[in-house]
Amino acid sequence: MSEKNKKWFSLNLNNNSNKTSTSCGCGKTSGGCKTHNQEEIDENVFFNDAVDASVGEQRPKDGIDQVFDVKMDRRTAFKKLTASLLIGAGAVSTSCSTLASDESKEKAQIDWEEQFKGNYKLMSNEEKEATVTRLVRSYQLRTGKTLNMSSVDAQKDVLYGYAFNISKCQGYMDCVNACVEENNQDRNSQMQYIRIHEMKDGKGFNFNESDDNYYHEVPAEGHFYMGTQCFHCDNPPCVEVCPVQATWREDDGLVVVDYDWCVGCRYCMAACPYDGRRFNWSKPEVPEEQINKNQHYLGNRMRKKGVMEKCTFCVQRSRAGKNPACVEACPTGARIFGNLLDPNSTIRWVLENKKVFRLKEDLGTEPKFWYFMD
Ligand code: SF4
Ligand code: SF4
Repeated sequence: MSEKNKKWFSLNLNNNSNKTSTSCGCGKTSGGCKTHNQEEIDENVFFNDAVDASVGEQRPKDGIDQVFDVKMDRRTAFKKLTASLLIGAGAVSTSCSTLASDESKEKAQIDWEEQFKGNYKLMSNEEKEATVTRLVRSYQLRTGKTLNMSSVDAQKDVLYGYAFNISKCQGYMDCVNACVEENNQDRNSQMQYIRIHEMKDGKGFNFNESDDNYYHEVPAEGHFYMGTQCFHCDNPPCVEVCPVQATWREDDGLVVVDYDWCVGCRYCMAACPYDGRRFNWSKPEVPEEQINKNQHYLGNRMRKKGVMEKCTFCVQRSRAGKNPACVEACPTGARIFGNLLDPNSTIRWVLENKKVFRLKEDLGTEPKFWYFMD
């Protein structure tokens, strides 16, 4: 990486986050070298203290612990408890009824288990797989159709980044349409993860004066176009404010939401300086034949009403080795996506050879979304 371009971003792309480090550099966590001579401590004590220190209140709990650990007022707690008991009563009476079909018993069992499942972030791999299997089966029981849902985790040595070529974007919005279709976004509202801002030449990047809802032929004379979406900040303020840890940064840099854990408070939306989050005021409605059946739990699976949605860099595609839908759909090649830790990737080439910039650098959010011009 040339020093000339390094000033445009401060992520250490050569950093291997999986390396273990010790204060003295001897490679051991206790005893054994001259500079590292503190007393050996009991392994169990060390482990428990380490877990407390590193995860604190995030220490894994089962679903029930998590449900009742959420800070909520008495009215909300009562409503949740009542709803759970009603579902439980339904499940019990269904499973006891001699008339109930095997399928309705199974559905009741799934509803019961879904009600008490934990936060995805804290689940073991087995729990993640069981959750996904349950949701797929639930869809089968409801619709008679099937879908693929993945719970694949972030891969080692992958950190996703995105670059947007302002000189190439012509404002066609093919990216917006592809995003809506790929991510099973509501077809009735205008809620879209990507915004394309039409800006006047000579006025700089003035988002206050840009037109985000143009309906005329593009490209319009005297204008240029800039796309925004969630920038997957390395230091995301939206994550800090979530009171229930329903949103977090994954190891490959994707900032995700557990729709089933989100309580819809919209604190994250207020904290995002880039307008990257979308609140769904109604249950996303997609005609059955248009539903994208290749889904990821943290991505384009069907959401309920009243939760936060956002771009996930198409986690269901990116973790399967594909480009996000917007990158694929762009007819001018204005969008570039890839692994920032791969020195041979196109995204690295762009960062090292173009004059790139990011929005609101001074905030220290470290968005992994760069702009550049030819
Ligand atoms: Fe969070 Fe906004 Fe950054 Fe996306 S762009 S990670 S929503 S702060
Ligand atoms: Fe967390 Fe945002 Fe959902 Fe509130 S709206 S619970 S802050 S993800």
